[in-house]
Amino acid sequence: MGRKTQYRREFTISDFYCTECGNKGFSCGRKISKQREPGHLKKLYCMYCKKETNHAEIRPYGSYNVEDFMEEFNLGRFVDGKKIPVSDLMNCSKKDCKYNKNGKCWNSNYSFDCGHRTKKEE
Ligand SMILES: [Zn+2]
Repeated sequence: MGRKTQYRREFTISDFYCTECGNKGFSCGRKISKQREPGHLKKLYCMYCKKETNHAEIRPYGSYNVEDFMEEFNLGRFVDGKKIPVSDLMNCSKKDCKYNKNGKCWNSNYSFDCGHRTKKEE
């Protein structure tokens, strides 16, 4: 005889933010077992861009929240809906630049023109 299914909270609601316009897109329930890493990118239709774009997943808990996304978005971290790993970002010699985070330039999409980017040494 099988036991009755226990009712547990098996999924949480994730919000998805468009990496091209920064607007909040759809929210959807995610099974906890199917959850990906924080800030996971997913292709969804954006009603503001009127096309499919990559959306960053924000969970109600975890290490990546809306402020993290907005910061990355505002600094130009997303290029074609993709995010370059921090370790691959260009170094920056201008310490007081707002795009400089721990010596790395977060303006991956070159929306800001500055002459302080230094190519990563091989
Ligand atoms: Zn959009």
